[in-house]
Amino acid sequence: MTRQDTYRHKGLRRQLALQLKEKGINSPEVLKAIETIPRHLFLDNAFIERAYEDIAFPIGAGQTISRPHTVAFQTELLQLKKGEKVLEIGTGSGYQTAVLLEMGVKVYSIERQKALFDKTKDFLPSIGYSAKFFYGDGYKGLPVFAPFDKIIITAGAPEIPKPLLEQLAIGGIMVIPLGDTVQTMTLLKKTAVNKFEKVEYGEFKFVPLLEDKDWGKG
Ligand code: SAH
Repeated sequence: MTRQDTYRHKGLRRQLALQLKEKGINSPEVLKAIETIPRHLFLDNAFIERAYEDIAFPIGAGQTISRPHTVAFQTELLQLKKGEKVLEIGTGSGYQTAVLLEMGVKVYSIERQKALFDKTKDFLPSIGYSAKFFYGDGYKGLPVFAPFDKIIITAGAPEIPKPLLEQLAIGGIMVIPLGDTVQTMTLLKKTAVNKFEKVEYGEFKFVPLLEDKDWGKG
């Protein structure tokens, strides 16, 4: 496979979307996004042949691009509506960011690894996806741009970062994988100031959400 998007890639994506449907992803918009986004372009050449298998891959700096099923599952839980303002913690490869953008929302995305931040903020616009990218610590969120209608955390969090709860709009939804070694996918709905309803879903495995930003080591 090459760095182009071909009919073969499109065919593989259609199969992947069907597979995700069989695994319980129902939202036609989410499945459409999976069918549209050229995931192979988000991967190193070494993994490009396997880009449309439902597996995670290393993306450098010790991080991974999540499995398509995980990305689709989290996106579906967000119940996105066009035009909403979404905060994403853990930009990584930008694949989840692209899925959010395909849903017609405005994305603010934070990454703590300088190398990944630099790479993805240039790569995503180069394939037609525009978001607001921030190099920083997602634990703190982006108070200046709050409130957010939805917040998605794409790394395993030992606890819920308090500032993120504050930055969620009333009626808003946060989707966060909670736990140390394995994580329980958790949906929090903010019903009033300091009031939340919690629903837990299955177990997932993420790289850890780390506090503070990485000061340019990797
Ligand atoms: N959504 C990404 C998943 C990347 S893995 C993708 O589809 O590729 C999780 C990412 O969260 C990693 O890039 C990691 O560096 C980042 N991360 C971990 N802790 C963070 C924090 N406190 N703030 C921002 N990003 C963080």
